[in-house]
Amino acid sequence: QLGNATIKAELGRSSWNLLHTMMGRFPEHPTTDEKEALRSFIYLFSRLYPCGECATEFQAILARYPPQVSSRVAASQWACAVHNIVNQRLQKEIFDCGTVAEKYKCGCDDEKNA
Ligand code: FAD
Repeated sequence: QLGNATIKAELGRSSWNLLHTMMGRFPEHPTTDEKEALRSFIYLFSRLYPCGECATEFQAILARYPPQVSSRVAASQWACAVHNIVNQRLQKEIFDCGTVAEKYKCGCDDEKNA
């Protein structure tokens, strides 16, 4: 049981890291197609997330807080807010969303200060 909890937590940490890093790289001025791609990704992610209980809870959160895809800032702040809703439910600390832009860098060659 401890083993399963550890694996679930590691899956969560790696998933959040991917999500927040993607948001940090989302265009500042996305095209309609880019907005639709991100929205689809988030809904498909919520369906396919391999922890079933987490997926069900996340779908309920999405129903109340639909993905914000109008810009990089909107998407990053949305992801931070929904992560905080999960944090609250799991009785974890609330994260300061003012710091997401500096925290999540992708390490990509084409990004200054990556
Ligand atoms: P995590 O919550 O994994 O966060 C990792 C790091 O991200 C933190 O150390 C902090 O530096 C940073 N961070 C924290 N909050 C934010 C924020 N708001 N914005 C940006 N960065 C932040 N686990 C369950 O047991 N039950 C569930 O129902 C459940 N649902 C989940 C749903 C989703 C969509 C995901 C991706 C994960 C879910 N998890 C769930 C896993 C859970 O959210 C944690 O990932 C896991 O418990 C490990 O927690 P952690 O304390 O290491 O930090």
